[in-house]
Amino acid sequence: MKRIYLDYAATSPIKKTVLQAMQPYLLDKFGNPSSLHSFGQEARAGVDWAREQVAKFLNCKPTEIIFTSGGTESDNLAIRGVIEEQRAKSKEQKLPHIITSAIEHHAVLHTCQDLEKKGLAEVTYLPVDKFGRVSVSDVRKAIKENTVLVSIMYANNEIGTIEPIRDIGKMIEKTNKFRISDFGFRILFHTDAVQAVGYLNCDVKYLHVDMLSLSAHKFGGPKGVGALYVREGVNLAPEITGGGQEYKKRAGTENVPAIVGLGEAVTTINNQQPTINKIQKLRDELIDGILREIPDVILTGHPKERLPNIASFCFKYIEGESIMLNLDLKGVAVSTGSACTSGSLQPSHVLMACGFNHETTQGSIRFSLGEDTTEEEIDYVLKILPPIVKRLRKMSPFGKEKLKIKNQK
Ligand code: PLP
Repeated sequence: MKRIYLDYAATSPIKKTVLQAMQPYLLDKFGNPSSLHSFGQEARAGVDWAREQVAKFLNCKPTEIIFTSGGTESDNLAIRGVIEEQRAKSKEQKLPHIITSAIEHHAVLHTCQDLEKKGLAEVTYLPVDKFGRVSVSDVRKAIKENTVLVSIMYANNEIGTIEPIRDIGKMIEKTNKFRISDFGFRILFHTDAVQAVGYLNCDVKYLHVDMLSLSAHKFGGPKGVGALYVREGVNLAPEITGGGQEYKKRAGTENVPAIVGLGEAVTTINNQQPTINKIQKLRDELIDGILREIPDVILTGHPKERLPNIASFCFKYIEGESIMLNLDLKGVAVSTGSACTSGSLQPSHVLMACGFNHETTQGSIRFSLGEDTTEEEIDYVLKILPPIVKRLRKMSPFGKEKLKIKNQK
């Protein structure tokens, strides 16, 4: 059976050119980049090259890039690093205040909750509208005297909604102009751009951000490697202590092959517009087809301000897990927002924040396309999905009840 992968937002296959770029660093060029001999310097050259590629992509200096073990670590370093640094330096009695949104990835959300629980920070979780958008004025209104950090994701991983990062960045910049003299520190702005890379403009100057997280495995690079952009002048306490690697902000011998893979993956992103257009066209066909062929389906996320590769839905009266497993039996891999990676049946915090009730969130499914997705694959999904949903709804007593009530109206 042919397998169809529509879960690129979870992870993507490594591109051939990325594997080719990595291979020498797994075999011949195996040195430790901190070693001063030729073996070490060969590896160092690989890391330096990758840093330049990432810096070019983000329009920043290579010295502003910290390599990490992925998106989760980048988010942790940005948030914990700022809070720890601020607490160490500040004479303020008040707890440092973080502003974030209710729909962040758990890498941000759980980090903020952890700091709150340990009594190290005060956190405001901003609400979103029904499409999952944070409002710039809500961010502005939430700023307090003790606000040190705003962390808002660039694009949401479950529903694909794009957040107004540039506008928030500009607003914070303006606010900072008035605050510096009064309070002695600026509000820093971090964005988790893990899902945005490859699809949206990640120029950090255009975005007006101080920190930006990315992760290689979401755009054709290897797993377990990522980067954090940290604007020059922003001080972060390291989260991993030890050697002086990564400008003393992240200790540990660098994962050289993975870092080179990240560098190569980033170079393949440029000139990707025709591929993005193709993906978006297929994604729109999928959305149109599902909404046309299947009753009682809600498209979640913003109708326009959404990533070109994500189509997410709530199928009423049935569970997303059942749809996902039935699609898997037919060779189609998608994911459900209602269960997190642990396999628990917790409702999606993202959909709940968008105002969906617990019941509706249970039927959520995310399709995420990538550059290898074809027209035939989308046609196949549109052929097999309606009968799967129909059958599951027939089997579900809960579904029958609801459908009966609905048909009577
Ligand atoms: N942030 C977002 C928005 C994500 O989608 C993910 C992964 O799904 C992460 C962070 C975590 O990245 P990683 O898997 O590299 O730790």
